[in-house]
Amino acid sequence: MKLMEFQAKSLFSRYGIPVPGGTMVESVEGALEAAEKIGLPVVVKAQVMTGGRGKAGGVKLASTEDEVRSHASAILGMDIRGYEVKRLLVDPAVKIARELYVGITMDRGRGCPVLMVSGEGGVDIEEVARKTPERISIVPVDPVMGLQMYQARRAAFEVFAEKKKAMSAAKVMLQLWSCFAGCDCSLAEINPLAELADGRIEALDAKIVLDDNALFRHPDLAEMRIPQPDELKELRAREKGLSYVGLDGNIGCMVNGAGLAMATMDLVKHLGGKPANFLDIGGSSNPQKVIDAMELLLSDPGVEVIFINVFGGITRCDDVASGLVEAVQKTRLDLPLVVRLTGTNEEEGRSLLAEAGIEATTSMRRGAELALQRASEGGSA
Ligand code: GDP
Ligand code: MN
Repeated sequence: MKLMEFQAKSLFSRYGIPVPGGTMVESVEGALEAAEKIGLPVVVKAQVMTGGRGKAGGVKLASTEDEVRSHASAILGMDIRGYEVKRLLVDPAVKIARELYVGITMDRGRGCPVLMVSGEGGVDIEEVARKTPERISIVPVDPVMGLQMYQARRAAFEVFAEKKKAMSAAKVMLQLWSCFAGCDCSLAEINPLAELADGRIEALDAKIVLDDNALFRHPDLAEMRIPQPDELKELRAREKGLSYVGLDGNIGCMVNGAGLAMATMDLVKHLGGKPANFLDIGGSSNPQKVIDAMELLLSDPGVEVIFINVFGGITRCDDVASGLVEAVQKTRLDLPLVVRLTGTNEEEGRSLLAEAGIEATTSMRRGAELALQRASEGGSA
């Protein structure tokens, strides 16, 4: 689960990391009030769950009331990489001398958390990572011992020559580690960590991704969830006992079992197709689930064909088939449907489908090939 910048900054301040101390608002009037309270100049910042806001025009400096008004009204409602801006953070503006990057994330390759530090932070950090990765120091962290003082100091001295500044940067790194470990983050990032004109250090941006698997330990953090449009669908699916992840392909997949669902996506990809989603309808054979799953797939406008892949173990093929027939009738399905059905009671299942005019195969590969074929027929028609 991702947090927005204003939420991440409030977490940062719990751990002592210096942040500007702004206000989140949801309207132009709110922005004007906040600016008055904070004092000009301020920075008006789009709050969306994506980076690159600065480059998209979602971060603006305002020195007058008029500028606050015009920036706030321009940024509210703006679309940044597919995310509509509904909230703004109004922060006191600061004079930046230098922008650094400090982040902690899980490194799967090394199998441990890593601290990443660069003297070249700011909006171009992706380019630094791509073109000059040697300018980012990577410090592996022992997950039990945690980030050690000497590690933080060593990293800090790589970006600050001056002892006083290096020490305060090291302190921020240790605080960031406490936040990362204490909140069970999978990412905690400050970009930029700014050295201000007066020599202080402040976190001007904040990014936190929480590990969903540990959220049960943090009910207060779980409450911070701001569902995004794409997540809403996944949440609704979860409420119905379905496990759904939307993707951007055209082959809607409905599968029983997470492993088979992964294998189905792999096979579709392997054959040159693009899955529209991951969808695991689980092991039970409740016809309502099939109907819910079908409705979920049909709510994705990108879906051009539905590929159902069911292996009946505990799930009985005849139950799946009757659910399917009901779902096709109820949803008035007008997309091509390809079914692969095998396992317990498969003959009964297939004959139920045949009666309803739905063709089924027992081979997964054949099913996937048919799905690709139907999708391309649909596309050219
Ligand atoms: P991002 O583009 O989504 O990463 O948004 P950031 O919060 O990192 O802001 C982008 C850039 O805006 C930063 O790298 C800074 O250069 C600039 N910026 C952010 N806050 C301030 C501020 O208080 N004063 C000044 N002068 N610039 C700021
Ligand atoms: Mn940033």
